[in-house]
Amino acid sequence: MKVVKFGGSSLATGANLNQIFQIVTADPERKIVVVSAPGKRFKEDAKVTDLLIDLATKALLEEDTTVLFEQIIARYQEIAEQTGTDASIVEQIRSDLKRRIDSDKANPDLFMDLIKASGEDNNAKLVAAFFTGKGIPAQYVNPKEAGLIVTDEHANAQVLSESYAKLHQLRNADQLVIFPGFFGYTNSGQISTFSRSGSDISGAILANAVNADLYENFTDVDAVFTVNPGFVKHPLEISELTYREMRELAYAGFSIFHEEALIPAFQAGIPVHIKNTNNPDSRGTKIVRKRECSAGPVVGIASDSGFSRIYISKYLMNREIGFGRRVLSILEKNGLTFEHMPSGIDDLTLILRGNQLNPTLETRVAEALKRELGADDVAIEHDISLVMIVGESMRHSIGTTHRASRALAEAGVNIEMINQGSSEVSIMFGIKKDFEKTAIQALYQEFFAE
Ligand code: ASP
Repeated sequence: MKVVKFGGSSLATGANLNQIFQIVTADPERKIVVVSAPGKRFKEDAKVTDLLIDLATKALLEEDTTVLFEQIIARYQEIAEQTGTDASIVEQIRSDLKRRIDSDKANPDLFMDLIKASGEDNNAKLVAAFFTGKGIPAQYVNPKEAGLIVTDEHANAQVLSESYAKLHQLRNADQLVIFPGFFGYTNSGQISTFSRSGSDISGAILANAVNADLYENFTDVDAVFTVNPGFVKHPLEISELTYREMRELAYAGFSIFHEEALIPAFQAGIPVHIKNTNNPDSRGTKIVRKRECSAGPVVGIASDSGFSRIYISKYLMNREIGFGRRVLSILEKNGLTFEHMPSGIDDLTLILRGNQLNPTLETRVAEALKRELGADDVAIEHDISLVMIVGESMRHSIGTTHRASRALAEAGVNIEMINQGSSEVSIMFGIKKDFEKTAIQALYQEFFAE
């Protein structure tokens, strides 16, 4: 059996719903359908989830919510009208949202999640009514009744392992299951949402729980591309990549599939197939445990900006016991997480997400590093981009770093840092943000151009 997930852009209009109806009914193995909230109908449109966040914010501030409330209901109403779905479902959605908005606001995080989750929850009810109306009996399944139990870390919930056994029962459902993505319930029965785009996670959890043969993730692009199409026009598509490769690419900006959604799929070894709702015949991208080695060593090139680096040097650092530990404890005391720590003999560099820093914190950390470690030099720099070449085949091929660094040198890009883990799944280059596009284009030319 297959678990199928549709993202918000596949559920924004009546035409979208007709399209997903075709897809689901074309394959009897597609038995569980996970849905997002309606997404954007056109480029400047708002996602229902974003409208709901605004709604909750206004309600918490005790501002008037009437206009926004009606705007949200109108989104469901439009879809119901366009698909000829029984109008009573819209009335149900209206009273559900009203009940939520009138509920207790003592815990703002809980209230926010309650409102946010309604996007998926009500859309699942609408989609179930739509399928049933078209002659395919479908049941909306509530995550609480199905047993999707999560932690109470609102907006960043994590699934609890006891969920899987209960969710397994969904295998035996006699109708098509329509399951709302993005949220679960805590042990005390409260709604708690995953992080943004978390319906991917719900789909992966269900695929794991029912031991699906395949988890199909329908979105609005044909495939995962070898590089961000914003940097290279019409880049090649990736037909197959491993969980580890996807994880590395997701880390540096490939946001097509939620990185946390890889965990349940990976644990159960369930292949994930990324496909385009609007072009279901396109090949898409499969994420698998093992793949045949592709022609070249690199499967994709990713980049992410907004990093900062803290450079620390001290003569004879290599001989000093506990130096690294003390550096990291200064970071910990200041509530900072670091991403990478490349080092030399007498120096080390910490790469951090720059949005954690501010001028006061920077001065405090730099002073602590100098004072407590007796460092000769501490320098903090911003606007660093990390560019990554990713591919499991690099492990077996000699000279990939050479090819990459030569391509960067020929394009006039200075490499500020190189980091290659011993797993050899990726090589990471730290460069100045201004050179990000040039670097990506040069690497694409080197590894993918015919
Ligand atoms: N609707 C939620 C969001 O926009 C979750 C999802 O679409 O996966 O983040």
